[in-house]
Amino acid sequence: MKVDGEMTFLNNWLYIIRNCSFDNTYKVAWAKAITEISHEYSYGNQEQEVIEITLTVIAEKVVRYYWDQTVFFDLKQSGNPVKPPVIVSIVKGLIASYQAKSGSLKPIKWFKANVENLCKQEYDKAIKDIVKALKADVSYRFLRIEGKEIVGIYEYQIKADSLFIAAESLKLLKENSLIVFDAINYRWTQMLENFNHSPRISKKVKIIDEENVRRKPLTKFSSYINVENPKHVCFLCGYVIVDETPALDHVIPWSYLYSDDLWNLVYAHQTCNSSKSNVIPSEDMIMRLEERNSNLYSLLQTTGIKDKHVSDLDLAINNNYVRKFWITCQG
Ligand SMILES: [Zn+2]
Repeated sequence: MKVDGEMTFLNNWLYIIRNCSFDNTYKVAWAKAITEISHEYSYGNQEQEVIEITLTVIAEKVVRYYWDQTVFFDLKQSGNPVKPPVIVSIVKGLIASYQAKSGSLKPIKWFKANVENLCKQEYDKAIKDIVKALKADVSYRFLRIEGKEIVGIYEYQIKADSLFIAAESLKLLKENSLIVFDAINYRWTQMLENFNHSPRISKKVKIIDEENVRRKPLTKFSSYINVENPKHVCFLCGYVIVDETPALDHVIPWSYLYSDDLWNLVYAHQTCNSSKSNVIPSEDMIMRLEERNSNLYSLLQTTGIKDKHVSDLDLAINNNYVRKFWITCQG
């Protein structure tokens, strides 16, 4: 097992993370779950030599990672643009059930969503299905790099419901978890950059890992948008918005851009805004947004306001941001 003094468990573990193939992100999710479990385990005094970890416990963590990455940013987890990995499809099904039951399309973090209780049946089924996929695609393959098996990580019999890992090894993961999590997130980010063309991937991964995904208030943009749209016409349905505060709608979805920019913000009815969610805009909308932006810029010029938002708008017009991001957000 130990080829030389250097080839310790931890080195092998990091070696797998750094070299696992780019087929999909299952292996990094698997590694992250086990590292998290190493933290939760209470190591007793009379030390057990071997610790059993069930695939169900791993699945309960994996579902969370994919939930957060999918519900906020719809990040693709494999290089196949047509068919997402099975686990991602399972999670997308769970998200759809949750949104139907909660009556809201607003993205919500797993730990706040209470999916386990609100969609108990669907959740239990999802966990079972994820266990199946982990069994078939990850459990034993995780240990193989370029056809060679790395020994001494954990024991797993094909099709078994649990893996067995030395208590000593799990403790090592716990003690070095900062380094291990960094390595996992870095590899995961590399993969996502390969599979996704949306901007700010590493920021998205980082923010998902933090407690809260913060969305800044957009009210500061209203005074600019008002200059071109003083009557508050809804960009989505074309009717005037009366008796309610207009919603600020991201024409190119926020989930894609992960940024709030004047060139991408318009007024909409609260209901028009919340019923559209992360849909990719039509070409007609893109043309109307381009027209709005150039009108808005001309009007802002006459007011004499010169600040960051106005120069950003100028930059967006000159560099065709609307069209460029619209084209890339479809792929
Ligand atoms: Zn409307």
